[in-house]
Amino acid sequence: MPIYEYQCKDCNSRFDLLRPMRASDEDVKCKDCGGSNVTKLLSMFASSGGSSYGGGYTGGGGCSPSSGFS
Ligand SMILES: [Zn+2]
Repeated sequence: MPIYEYQCKDCNSRFDLLRPMRASDEDVKCKDCGGSNVTKLLSMFASSGGSSYGGGYTGGGGCSPSSGFS
């Protein structure tokens, strides 16, 4: 999910928001003054790596009934 960085033109405070791609053009309000006079500065992707899906665990039953009774 991309992180967008915004700057408020009213109070010049910068903040960044993590929002979905399709919502990137929706209205953003300043976190400090609440004004909507906000410019989008840049966007970067939050790199949350680690696609380590170690699938393939077909759980083999470890219960082997050893019938030691004769
Ligand atoms: Zn502001």
